[in-house]
Amino acid sequence: MSGATTGPGAGAHRSGLRLMAVHAHPDDESSKGAATTARYAAEGVDVLVVTCTGGERGSILNPRYTDPPSTPEEMAAVRRDEMAAAAAALGVRQHWLGFVDSGLPEGDPLPPLPEGCFALVPLEDAAAPLVDLVRSFRPHVMTTYDPTGGYPHPDHIMCHRVAFEAFHAAGDPERYRDRGEPWQPLKLYYNHDFSLTRLRTVHEAMQAAGLESPFGDWISSRAMREVPERPVTTRIECSGWFPARDAALVAHATQIDPEGFFFATPRDLEAEVWPVEEYELAASHVPVSTPEDDLFAGVHPEDDPVADADTDTDADADADRAATEVDA
Ligand SMILES: [Zn+2]
Repeated sequence: MSGATTGPGAGAHRSGLRLMAVHAHPDDESSKGAATTARYAAEGVDVLVVTCTGGERGSILNPRYTDPPSTPEEMAAVRRDEMAAAAAALGVRQHWLGFVDSGLPEGDPLPPLPEGCFALVPLEDAAAPLVDLVRSFRPHVMTTYDPTGGYPHPDHIMCHRVAFEAFHAAGDPERYRDRGEPWQPLKLYYNHDFSLTRLRTVHEAMQAAGLESPFGDWISSRAMREVPERPVTTRIECSGWFPARDAALVAHATQIDPEGFFFATPRDLEAEVWPVEEYELAASHVPVSTPEDDLFAGVHPEDDPVADADTDTDADADADRAATEVDA
C-alpha cells in the first residue's frame, strides 16, 4: 500500500495547489469524489467544493429521518447545516453558487421545470458566478460531471455545462469581461464513481464473501439499458479517507440512510477490492500521460506566476464563512 492510504494527518506537502470540485446539490460532494477531496485537503491542497444549488427541492430520502422540515425555506436551512458538517468531515472549504434546485421531474409526460430553477437559467448567466469564483480562487484542477450529468437530473447536466463553460472561459480576457483577472485552470476531470466495473467488482466480492449484495438489480438494469461506459483515465487511491467520506455522507441526514445503499458494502472489503475513486480527464493544458494516479500529475505550482499573490477576495471570504478547520 502506498502512503496515499495513510489517512488524515498525511502531511501538507502539496501546499500551493488548488482543487475546485463543482457539484449540483449538497450531498453530491459526499457521494462523488469525496475521499479524493479529503485526501488532497489532508495533503495540504486548498480544496474548494462549489455547490450550484441549495437542494431546496430534495425530498427526505432517509426513512430513519425524523421531524422533516415543512417548507422549502426550512429544508434549505437544514441542508446548509448538513453541508457545513459534511465539509468539516472532509476537511474542505465550500461555497454556494446560489441557484435554486430544479427538482427531479417525474411522470409521463415529464412536467415542465419550475420557473427560475437552475436548469432554466441561460448558460452565460449561470456560469458567470462560477467564472468569478475560478478567477478569484484560481484552481489548478477542476472536477465536475460528464455531459450526461452522471445521471439524468437536470441540475447535474446543468452543473456539467456551467463547469465546462467556466473552465474554458475563465482564462479568456475576451469572455466575461470586467469580472476579475482571467485564470486558466490546467486540468478538467469528470467524476466516475458508479462505473459498471466498480459495481461488478464489489458485487462479486460480496457474493464471494457469502454476503447479500444490493447491487445485482442495478447491474442488470444498467447492462440492459446499455448505458455507454465513459473512459476512466485516472484512479485516485484514497481508501484511507473512506471514513471521512462516510462521516460526510452521514452528515447529510435528510438524504442518506446510514443503514442504506451507501453503507451496504463492508468497509474492510471495500478498501480491499476498490480502494480508489475514478475520473475521466476531459481537458488538459499540461502534458499528460494516462492512466494517471494523481489529479495534479503534470501540474507544477512553482511555475504559477501568481501563486504567492494575495488571494483574499470576496469569494474567498464567502468560502471562509462556510469553511471548516482541517482536522490534520
Ligand atoms: Zn445531486
